[in-house]
Amino acid sequence: MDQAPITDMTGSALARDMQRHLQFSFGKDPAHAQVRDWRLALSLAVRDRIVEPWFKATRAAYAGHHKRVYYLSMEFLIGRLLEDAIVNLGLGDEAMAACAEAGVDFDALLADEPDAALGNGGLGRLAACFLDSLSTLGCPAMGYGIRYEHGLFRQTFHHGHQVEQAEAWLQQPHAWEFERAEASFEIGFYGDVREEDGRSVWEPGDAVVARAYDTPIIGWQGRWANTLRLWGAKPTKLFDLARFNVGDFNAAAEPEAQARTISRVLYPDDTTDQGRELRLKQEYFFTAASIRDIMRRYLDEYSDIRKLPTKVAIQLNDTHPAIAGPELVRILHDEHGLPFDEAAETARLTLNYTNHTLLPEALESWSEGLMWHLLPRHMRLIEQIDDWHARNHPRRTRSTIDHGVVRMGDLAFAMANKVNGVSALHTDLVKTTVFAEQHKLHPGRVINQTNGVTPRRWLVACNPGLSNLITDTIGTGWEADLERLSELEPHIDDAGFAEAFAAAKRANKIELGSWLKEEIGLTVNPDAMFDVQIKRIHEYKRQLMNVLETISLWQAIREEPEKDWTPRLKIFGGKAAPGYRTAKEIVHLINDVASVVNVDPLMRGRLAVAYPPNYNVTMAERLIPAADLSEQISTAGKEASGTGNMKFALNGAPTMGTLDGANVEIRDLVGADNFFLFGLTTDEAEERRETPGHATRAIAASPRLTAAIAAIEKGTFSPDDPARYHGLGRILRDSDYFLVCSDFDSYWQAQRRADEIYRDPAAWGRMAAFNTARSGWFSSDRTIRGYMRDIWDVEAIDS
Ligand SMILES: *Cc1c(COP(=O)(O)O)cnc(C)c1O
Repeated sequence: MDQAPITDMTGSALARDMQRHLQFSFGKDPAHAQVRDWRLALSLAVRDRIVEPWFKATRAAYAGHHKRVYYLSMEFLIGRLLEDAIVNLGLGDEAMAACAEAGVDFDALLADEPDAALGNGGLGRLAACFLDSLSTLGCPAMGYGIRYEHGLFRQTFHHGHQVEQAEAWLQQPHAWEFERAEASFEIGFYGDVREEDGRSVWEPGDAVVARAYDTPIIGWQGRWANTLRLWGAKPTKLFDLARFNVGDFNAAAEPEAQARTISRVLYPDDTTDQGRELRLKQEYFFTAASIRDIMRRYLDEYSDIRKLPTKVAIQLNDTHPAIAGPELVRILHDEHGLPFDEAAETARLTLNYTNHTLLPEALESWSEGLMWHLLPRHMRLIEQIDDWHARNHPRRTRSTIDHGVVRMGDLAFAMANKVNGVSALHTDLVKTTVFAEQHKLHPGRVINQTNGVTPRRWLVACNPGLSNLITDTIGTGWEADLERLSELEPHIDDAGFAEAFAAAKRANKIELGSWLKEEIGLTVNPDAMFDVQIKRIHEYKRQLMNVLETISLWQAIREEPEKDWTPRLKIFGGKAAPGYRTAKEIVHLINDVASVVNVDPLMRGRLAVAYPPNYNVTMAERLIPAADLSEQISTAGKEASGTGNMKFALNGAPTMGTLDGANVEIRDLVGADNFFLFGLTTDEAEERRETPGHATRAIAASPRLTAAIAAIEKGTFSPDDPARYHGLGRILRDSDYFLVCSDFDSYWQAQRRADEIYRDPAAWGRMAAFNTARSGWFSSDRTIRGYMRDIWDVEAIDS
């Protein structure tokens, strides 16, 4: 065997290391190895090549005494890691050759990796995109979260109904993490607070151990790698031997089972207060472990605790880690003896808070009773922080503790150096609605950082056809400098470019077509407009409006079957929270409509509905490159930003959208001509909601909507259970808080405009190409540069 170093990036070295890991790390004879064995072997061979830049980055951050960023997030929706690492290291050809040599199919090998779904949707995916950008930019940073044994549930459909199954991504070896038995902290709960020499000492009544598991996150071209550190919960006492010895085996195992519960499952909703004790325990568990780890690292390097904010910037991804405020004050005041006010201000200057939603049901609050019970010292500190805030702002009328509940948004705001919204519109609403008073008291604290997505995963890796065309047209380098996509603009009207752009999209559609055939048995027309709405199922996202439009289109085609209709494939994807009844009814309705439409001979080649189950990152990577039209149709004022909208625009799918979230900025950048706008604005929606009888009136004014609602209400799509959708009918007729009825006609018309333009492939292709060429600003590199400059005050390190 040759002696090439482990960092050798040649194909032959990678093949050698894959073989070596197969045999010596996993003990498998190549003659009997399965795809999984090869996948794990290749993963380790690739991981070997990440370790050196990873160590180098860590050393550089220490050597230069650089300020570090800590990103605390309850969710990281990372998806698969192998392809991402291969793409970032530029090892695509080498890995393919190594697989060919071993006689394994490279694509099958990539597809074997479980999708790590340690998150619900946009918030968790944003955290994952940020990790990629932090490493790409060489920003010394660390992500902190929970190592859930079970990520987001797996969705299946039974007779159209959503059924949830536990997801067990850790049932097989996980090639990317390093367990750090030495990095463990005891995290307490319950108990009492005792006064000792004028200091408060918390004596927890129970405790678990938080153990670190590290995953290196390699940036573009392998120049820098940061760490994602996830905490797993372990018992402080592994096993009750005394109980075991007297034969009580179940009780003996209890401490372990109890502790493990904390990192067992991801709460399956990011927009409702799932709350209660276990959720609060999870929040405190990972936040406290992370803060302790951060303090240990800081005190290894520095001695003056008051200078913490000059070397540490902590970002709270929503309020889930907001207990970081009182926890940091507890450490600075109780443990390090800083006077209370100084401790509070030092903590505040270290912390920052990102607000992700203004939906009232999603604003976290905890009952004081539960807080006193679970975290007695922290509850007392929350009172003191509130008092400190009131003392400093005598005009304040709103307090953090209200009618027996602690409002975590108010706590996070009071304890933040900067508070950011995630799109221009959302940040305006943060300032004028829920946080209006705090914004007045703290002008300049609220700033905007519009979300972004990593172009490495969401273009380079998932859409090689389009990526290669971009590189052929403008050269390399755009992958980490995405605004260079604007250099495509002068080529948009070149016949050669236009043809190649359309061909890349068509190839992706054909590939998706065969996947749909295999996955759900649906034959699709590749010339149909692929009209895609993929995201969590929620009333504010208005999948219901999209299904009603589908029903209306089905009715219209049946009425005039001889007309030359623009063919459409309606694609839906998304999970409903298990306890969210209306969302589950919408899931059922989409499936029921599909089962009627897809067998109607009059629809053949013209209209079909596809709803592949179990939407996740991997499915998004497959669907987005093949999309013609991006559905971003939320009620104005309700979607904070959206990031799905950005992925579609980048991949050349024009948006069908309302003026909501980052749609506003997408439309500004790609141009109004390249965006299908419809619907009420935020102000109009507010006003409409106040208008008595708005739904009844909208339905009466629209024969189409009347007919579509009538169809679901009389059981056209549920002949076995005609009353199934009476509940949805009632929501539409009686309240319609999300204004489906009010926006329906405007939506229908915008869809017909899209039909019209789609019939002219050149016109549609131009719109699509302008979307790609003008979406470079939506790179999460731009977002992270904004955080570094405006929030964290950190510099990238040139390595
Ligand atoms: C991007 C993404 C989201 C966020 O989508 P929105 O349309 O912005 O809600 C959710 N889930 C997955 C798997 C994603 O990739």
